[in-house]
Amino acid sequence: MTVSTIRSVCPYDCPDACGLLVSVENGRATSVVGDPDHPVTRGLLCAKMNHYEQTVHSPHRLTTPLRRVGKKGAGEFKPVSWDEAISSICNNWRRLIASHGAEAILPYSYAGTMGLVQRNAGHAFFNKLGASRLERTICSPAKDSGWKAIMGETPAMNPAEMEQSDLVILWGINAAATSIHAMRDAQTARKRGARLWAIDTYRTPTCDAVDDAFLVRPGGDGALALAMLYVIEREQLLDQAFIAANVLGFEELTTEVLPDCSPERMAVVCGLPVEVIERMAREYAKAEAPFIRLGSGLTRYGNGAMTVRTISCLPAAVGAWGKPGGASSSALRPGELSRCRS
Ligand code: SF4
Repeated sequence: MTVSTIRSVCPYDCPDACGLLVSVENGRATSVVGDPDHPVTRGLLCAKMNHYEQTVHSPHRLTTPLRRVGKKGAGEFKPVSWDEAISSICNNWRRLIASHGAEAILPYSYAGTMGLVQRNAGHAFFNKLGASRLERTICSPAKDSGWKAIMGETPAMNPAEMEQSDLVILWGINAAATSIHAMRDAQTARKRGARLWAIDTYRTPTCDAVDDAFLVRPGGDGALALAMLYVIEREQLLDQAFIAANVLGFEELTTEVLPDCSPERMAVVCGLPVEVIERMAREYAKAEAPFIRLGSGLTRYGNGAMTVRTISCLPAAVGAWGKPGGASSSALRPGELSRCRS
């Protein structure tokens, strides 16, 4: 029997890209565990990847194309050969292209269980065909735009640095379920004395694992950030030296935007009481190294990009970027962690 251990990486669409150690016996994966030497994920895998060898070799996996034979939704399919499936698809497409042109075909796929190569491999084919083009992801473009509006191409901070923070804010992210390494780093910071906040629109399991949970109205996160900026500026808690040296456009923010964003006004939008907003602003501004870990849920409204843009002003206002453990991170794509500032 030939047994070997292979280093690999989780193929799921997840920013963490966990390192794996895969035991292989006679060409068959027999166990999958976390790689303790991976610098970021350090051996911790989520439930989806623990025992992935069972998923890979599951008898329930599809091994042949299926043709629907019943009504849509009835779940009635019959297996067909690859030749039959390919010729059926090609005949349909030829007919479609002859009658309406290739742009009548709209390829829709995103990530899922694939790496960067497989994920993009079909693009050349559809480009050559002349099919319609689509912004594939429904996940992060708004977040990306909001981040870039403030940060440009500056990468996010390495989330592992949050261990050095004294105030960690998990904003719009159920980290206990979807960002287990961020949760681990946040808990490490907490053991060292940091306070943990969660800001969300409903009570997630993460809310039960932090010191304070703030529940805002859906779409109201940006209003909360603006009101916090208003209080920070009103109470002269800005890091003027950092702003003067590193920030463009802060004067326009304070003179043209913030005057309309008093806590009294924004409380109606975000749903938090004025005194809570004021307390959040003061504690955020007075923290030594406040860290914001942004999720994606808060970007899935019409104001999603602007919400991220607004929240991204907070670390600049208090100079958090200049302090180890301070600033913010918003891991965007599979493997994005490797690009983070450290
Ligand atoms: S946390 Fe993400 S990268 Fe890690 S095992 Fe789970 S899905 Fe894969």
